[in-house]
Amino acid sequence: MKVELQHLTKIFPNRNKKIHSDVVAVSDFTYTIPDGQLVGLLGPSGCGKSTSLYMICGLQKPTSGKIFFGDDDVTELPPENRGVGLVFQNYALYPHMTVKQNILFPLQNLKGSDKLTKEDMLKRTYDVAKLVQIDDLMDRKPSELSGGQQQRVAIARALVKMPRVLLLDEPLSNLDARLRLQTREEIRRIQRETKITTVFVTHDQEEAMSISDTIVVMKKGVVQQIGAPQDVYDNPANLFVAKFLGTPPINVFNGKVEGGKLYIGDDAVLNTNIENDCEVMVGIRPEGFVLDPNGPMQCKLNGIEVMGRDVSVVSVNDACVAPTIRSIIDADNKPSAGDETVRFSLKMHKVFVFDKATEERIHYEVK
Ligand code: ADP
Ligand code: MG
Repeated sequence: MKVELQHLTKIFPNRNKKIHSDVVAVSDFTYTIPDGQLVGLLGPSGCGKSTSLYMICGLQKPTSGKIFFGDDDVTELPPENRGVGLVFQNYALYPHMTVKQNILFPLQNLKGSDKLTKEDMLKRTYDVAKLVQIDDLMDRKPSELSGGQQQRVAIARALVKMPRVLLLDEPLSNLDARLRLQTREEIRRIQRETKITTVFVTHDQEEAMSISDTIVVMKKGVVQQIGAPQDVYDNPANLFVAKFLGTPPINVFNGKVEGGKLYIGDDAVLNTNIENDCEVMVGIRPEGFVLDPNGPMQCKLNGIEVMGRDVSVVSVNDACVAPTIRSIIDADNKPSAGDETVRFSLKMHKVFVFDKATEERIHYEVK
């Protein structure tokens, strides 16, 4: 089922008399999620991810804009008539019911022509329990389950009605690191098997990148960029997106363009085809640095961290916005720990230039 969002906007009226503006939680969100895809809604806390999800699910009414599931306009439909499955961060299971009863519950509440026979309900319940691999836990109460198992029950309960669209709001946040990894792979597998169009909300860029077909990066209610995770990483539209994706994060420098030359501090690092002189911010991915005794960029060496196949070289440079520069270098090639300075040349496709005022990307070619 494709999900089409048209100019979706949500404004919460301001209740704080000291502040004279309303909260624009989501602003003009337009995007069509292709059928069967898993889309990751990504951004920092408060950027409007949950509000977007709740509008898709029907818990929040948009201030303006429309939502279509396939060709159906669902904008005015209540959640129970939309055919959505919703999973929250806190699993929200019924504590007094067994796993089986928890999963059965949504089916027992179906009305009219949707009503199922008892046998069908049980079959569906066991099928979906098998899918999320909790079929051996059916008689337990939620308090007798681990966090990961509870979240699987919540996912089973969302899937049992065979929703047209599955909506997950930070479903892994309450799990410890290992379970989080495991459960996200599970969600991916379940999504691939069921082919249900899925929206997955998270503030964790690594989680979104690893699980999604497409990511939507949001900031303060406004969509910044939409694309395949690798494409967005390789081609950020602006400084915010460049900074939000990647670990270790991108290194940001104050720079300028003069006579086509790109400067980081006083070092001219690249010859570009940028015609106008301007102040810029330069973002360099950690893997964009190459140790090179003749390289144009000089930094003071702070330390070397061994990571196995690669090493992380920590250095400083006056033009760097953060306290240190982190570069990832092939372990065979590392500087000696006694060196005071290191010189780098740069992989041009890992160097992004942004307008200092607007923070929008300036595309360039190396001359
Ligand atoms: P996220 O899920 O990305 O953390 P939300 O969608 O929950 O962000 O919130 C987006 C913005 O809308 C925030 O500024 C938040 O304070 C505001 N907001 C969310 N829900 C309400 C509400 N019911 N009333 C007023 N403001 C709200
Ligand atoms: Mg949220």
